[in-house]
Amino acid sequence: MSLPPRAEVVVVGAGLAGLSAATRLAAAGCDVHVLDAADHPGGRLATERVDGFVVDRGFQVLNTGYPRAADLDLPALELGWFWPGAVLRVDGHAHRLVDPRRRPAGLPATLHAPVGSPLRKAAIAAYSAHAGYTPVDRLLRAREVSAEQRLRTAGVGDAALERLFRPFLAGVLLEDRLETSSRYLDLLWRSFARGAIGLPARGMQAVGEQLAARVGAGRVHLGVRATSVAGDAVTTTAGPVRAEAVVVATDADTAAGLVPGLTATAPRQVTTHLHVLPSSPWPSPLIVLGTPSGRLVNSVVLTDAQPAYSRDGRALVASSSLLPTTAAEVRDEVAALHGVGAADLDHLTSLTVPRAQPAALPPLQLRRPVDLGGGLYVCGDHRDTPSIQGAMASGARAARAVLRALRPTDRGAA
Ligand SMILES: Cc1cc2nc3c(=O)[nH]c(=O)nc-3n(C[C@H](O)[C@H](O)[C@H](O)COP(=O)(O)OP(=O)(O)OC[C@H]3O[C@@H](n4cnc5c(N)ncnc54)[C@H](O)[C@@H]3O)c2cc1C
Repeated sequence: MSLPPRAEVVVVGAGLAGLSAATRLAAAGCDVHVLDAADHPGGRLATERVDGFVVDRGFQVLNTGYPRAADLDLPALELGWFWPGAVLRVDGHAHRLVDPRRRPAGLPATLHAPVGSPLRKAAIAAYSAHAGYTPVDRLLRAREVSAEQRLRTAGVGDAALERLFRPFLAGVLLEDRLETSSRYLDLLWRSFARGAIGLPARGMQAVGEQLAARVGAGRVHLGVRATSVAGDAVTTTAGPVRAEAVVVATDADTAAGLVPGLTATAPRQVTTHLHVLPSSPWPSPLIVLGTPSGRLVNSVVLTDAQPAYSRDGRALVASSSLLPTTAAEVRDEVAALHGVGAADLDHLTSLTVPRAQPAALPPLQLRRPVDLGGGLYVCGDHRDTPSIQGAMASGARAARAVLRALRPTDRGAA
């Protein structure tokens, strides 16, 4: 179906924010149309096939501890799981650190992991319990500092900070100074403490495809770019569309260009190198963390968690750096992290995502306004937290705001 000249609601952007808004609006009976400049739904959750391997646009995972993961049909994604923990390399030796609550067999190795004294390990456990099980409103009332200061105050100690938290969080926050808001750190750590992380069998793009399918046939228009927006109309490369409400669900920079007065925070970037190994060197699916002297924040055998990423049983390895490294620069480091010979690594592809996600510096601006007035709404990870959760939560809020305006008497819908 081509883009109609008129719709009740137009959503600009078929990332998880726009699709979360659109699925709710469609479920409430709205005549909603979504348009996206790209050729696939899901926005930054993008996947392609390279030589038969499933390659996501940057290493990312779905965390079932996110509250909004409840909106997804998780079984249909056929997720393959990472274990909750990580491998640390210290002086060439690999040490496994596994959440003993969920993998009791990992307790002895975890107790011996070089991340500080038993007291420090107790502090890590206490911080995890606090973030995981304190009510969110109390977490959000705590004094806001940097993530690093939060961890130091929690007493995790230097060894755990440098060997575990800094590389682990750098891979998630896409910054290694740990200058991110302690409030976001607490929310993030909460999701890791409560959920599991996994990869869909058909790649991360499958998450967006699942939501797009729910919006309805012919209602998601790909390859259509919005060039200007107002509360009652959108101008696009496929012609103008009039609407009663317009939801701008693009990335922060594009939203700031389309809507005067919106500001974009500094984006984070990441470079990911994909290599192939004849087989995995590891017995269990764990993220291998970068070392303080290296360029990589992590390196992961994706196929240990999700075997469907390879069609022939070879192992697919994703290694991420915050600086725009070349594959040649990190090859030896990838080999050392996995304890394999550099000659065993076949380079598949490398990619840099320059605007991977917005920064979440203090003061954290959670739940930024989504209703801009006059029929114009905005959502996206820049209105909440820089994550799948933030994108989906902001889309849900935008949908509620639209429904309050368009269906004021339908309390259930809004
Ligand atoms: C490499 C990488 C790793 C990540 N790792 C994780 C992770 O492990 N866990 C996690 O929770 N989050 C992670 N994130 C962040 C997460 O992917 C994003 O926060 C989330 O996907 C943002 O969704 P969104 O809908 O807000 O924006 P987007 O996904 O950017 O969607 C915006 C859409 O708008 C479209 N668009 C832009 N301009 C126009 C226009 N003018 N007209 C029409 N359409 C337009 C774009 O094509 C895009 O599809 C990662 C991101 C990257 C890139």
